[in-house]
Amino acid sequence: MSNPGATVQTTCPYCGVGCGVKVAIGADGSAQVAGDEMHPANYGRLCSKGAALGETLSLDDRLLYPEIAGQRASWDEALNAVAEGFRRTVEEHGPNAVAFYVSGQLLTEDYYVANKLMKGGFGSANIDTNSRLCMSSSAAGHKRAFGSDTVPGCYEDLEEADLIVLVGSNLAWCHPVLYQRILAARERRAGKPKLVVIDPRRTTTCDAAETHLPLKPGSDTALFNGLLVHLYQQDRLNLEFLEQHVAGFWSAYQAAREVAPNVPAVAAQTGLRESEIAEFYGLWGRTRKVVTVYSQGVNQSAHGSDKVNAILNGHLATGRIGQPGMGPFSVTGQPNAMGGREVGGLANQLAAHMDFAPDDVERVQRFWQAPVIAHQPGLKAVELFEAVADGRIKALWIMGTNPVVSLPDADSAREALKRCPLVVVSDAIADTDTVRLAHIKLPALTWGEKDGAVTNSERRISRQRAFLPPPGEAQPDWWAVTQVARRLGFGALFPFESPAAIFREHAALSGFENEAGRRDFDISALAELADADYDALQPVQWPLPRSATAGAARLFGAGGFFTADRKARCIAVGPRGPAHVVNDSFPLALNSGRIRDQWHTMTRTGKTARLTSHIPEPYLEIHPVDALACSVGENTLARVHSRWGEMIVRVRTSPEQQPGSVFVPMHWGSPLAPRGRVNAAVNPAVDPLSGQPESKHTPVRVQAYRPRWHGFLLCRQAMAPPEVEYRVSIRDRGCWRYELAGETAVEHWPTWARDLLGDDPGWEWLEFADASAGRYRGAVLVDGRLQACLFVAPSHELPLRGWLAGLFAVQNLDSAQRASLLAGRPGQGQRDQGRIVCACFGVGLNTLTAAIREQQLTTPQAIGVALKAGTNCGSCVPELRQLITQT
Ligand code: SF4
Repeated sequence: MSNPGATVQTTCPYCGVGCGVKVAIGADGSAQVAGDEMHPANYGRLCSKGAALGETLSLDDRLLYPEIAGQRASWDEALNAVAEGFRRTVEEHGPNAVAFYVSGQLLTEDYYVANKLMKGGFGSANIDTNSRLCMSSSAAGHKRAFGSDTVPGCYEDLEEADLIVLVGSNLAWCHPVLYQRILAARERRAGKPKLVVIDPRRTTTCDAAETHLPLKPGSDTALFNGLLVHLYQQDRLNLEFLEQHVAGFWSAYQAAREVAPNVPAVAAQTGLRESEIAEFYGLWGRTRKVVTVYSQGVNQSAHGSDKVNAILNGHLATGRIGQPGMGPFSVTGQPNAMGGREVGGLANQLAAHMDFAPDDVERVQRFWQAPVIAHQPGLKAVELFEAVADGRIKALWIMGTNPVVSLPDADSAREALKRCPLVVVSDAIADTDTVRLAHIKLPALTWGEKDGAVTNSERRISRQRAFLPPPGEAQPDWWAVTQVARRLGFGALFPFESPAAIFREHAALSGFENEAGRRDFDISALAELADADYDALQPVQWPLPRSATAGAARLFGAGGFFTADRKARCIAVGPRGPAHVVNDSFPLALNSGRIRDQWHTMTRTGKTARLTSHIPEPYLEIHPVDALACSVGENTLARVHSRWGEMIVRVRTSPEQQPGSVFVPMHWGSPLAPRGRVNAAVNPAVDPLSGQPESKHTPVRVQAYRPRWHGFLLCRQAMAPPEVEYRVSIRDRGCWRYELAGETAVEHWPTWARDLLGDDPGWEWLEFADASAGRYRGAVLVDGRLQACLFVAPSHELPLRGWLAGLFAVQNLDSAQRASLLAGRPGQGQRDQGRIVCACFGVGLNTLTAAIREQQLTTPQAIGVALKAGTNCGSCVPELRQLITQT
């Protein structure tokens, strides 16, 4: 625990940008969070999520003690039970009957010991990570092209480029600080870099782009094959680079020419206009400093690896790689997805960027002095859960992830866990869909308590430092793994007493027999860090071999790829569409993804009203024409069905959604929205090379969901919401909000309200009920203060929530406010500010549109002066621009 007055430098636990965070500890133990001006990832910037970190530190939802079969247990009992369960399973069924499913949220040290125990203790490679769902196609594409999983560039390249092509990346929402860095560079450099966004959906990122290419879902390979043909035909190749540093160009070119011989052929496959394709190719061809940024829209596909290689081909053919302002750039979703790749946390990697080649296997075993070692890749995430379902895996340890929400075909994952004889879950949170199914629960540390290292998208290793004491009996994951390993007889392999000791071994392995620099990942300069130096370690990029004093910002500018002949490979990629195509029964393509202010399954970002107020409910974005065809209207409820499952969501119509496609965010799980898990409907098809699921394309049917009644409940305190067919729990400003809808008729709403909220002679009830119309409005006041209110109607048209939530701040409701409660609409002088757009200053949509209109505001800066919106983290600035345009 840091002392009051101290300032701790740490790293944001959310996305792969890896922003540095400064935490100032107040005299009362409170934590003030700010961006770290010294951190090279963000230079002081934070997005809305990072800026709200200080509001997510409460312990109210934490798992604080070990449990066995739902009963509190001591750590000793829990660790003995885990060790005994895994030992028995291995003895009876062999090492491949056990598995770990880990997470890009783990720190490198946690990851390292988990990987070592599975591969060097049990001798199985059945350890995979939720990073499989996010960037494994990039890793596979890198490996095919470069011979190693190497990101060649650095963040400065985004500022130095003249053209940035964003493919399948809503950077403005998913990597906001990088987006802000690009926008700031454009201000400094008179509009450079230009931005081209390639995405079926018009996202917020398109707002600042010169060009948006709304291609058909899954047609990226055709577009980039066509680019390769164009580069050749227009004499844009770098022949010297090709000759010296690249092999396979001709086969890649011929494959490209077969499927994308000219612009009309590309237009036919992508649905883009010929003119816009030609313009894009021309711009790419004549601009030397090009960076292609790609993310989940590329990776989460049944042919994600091919898409990645189609992108890399263009950069290799032109030598636009590893030089300032140019190169392909995979931006990772998770804070330590890269660290997981470094230690070997994916089932098809061994350790320290070595794979299962016999030399590597022998080397790692010798380094570890391990009694056994895995010789073959293990099961990748989706296969791993299939093996749990069919009984091949009988003991599973899940660390820091929630697969019952995040895996595709998530209901099958849930059923698999129900059937598994031993499920161990290490988590910081007491109630998640996955924790509910654990036989043994191990309380883990979370951000602010953990101590270790993470690696961001530009290969930069930073420290996450603890500034809070461990709550309850929670322990670091590395400690729990080490304790289990010792109980299994692997004490000699697990002598670690601190994360620093683990990090030193990890760094030493990276340099072991790597003197000639044959392997890209080498941080052996850090292998002998003293504990104090590890504590003080400043952000540093790898590779950092033993002799180096500074890491390399860029690689491959002069070749030196990690293949046997040191040449990169252009890869021939043919046409392959989505694994499952839309049809008459399921005519729409479902695309799932992130929203601006939420992270993963909301266990942290769902704790602050500042973040939940932006988009409080799971929603379906659908084009108005499709909405009409599906008979769903704005703000109504809809069922989204697929072959695999279904969910219920609120409808948002948007002309920016491509007809034929719909979008649903991936964040909600059962504790907050029992019917809102989009992955229940997402198909489990995977890329054959990377094993990454196709989360961006599932054929679905959308139908109106017509419950008998709609309602919402606002309460000063959190409560157990009613068990009704549709329910979403939302932490709102000053109260908890429950969106409700039910299929069962309620005979007497006043009785229902009292059954739900309780009653007390001291309470004052304000009520309006019209049984024949199915309407009810009820409010409970205690000493004049609003405690709860319930509104019910036969349709979704209900009073505005923002204005009602504001009444919880009023000490004594006056007669006008009471009258407006009963009337269900704001009275004179009361205003509903609408959903929150600026999370930092709580500025709502209605406030913004009114100010834009009334004060003739035409720039985000003018809005900032008038309302402060957009002047802190800047995450909402793209939306402010959109509002100006729309208003
Ligand atoms: Fe955290 Fe936002 Fe930075 Fe990502 S961009 S690391 S979420 S502050």
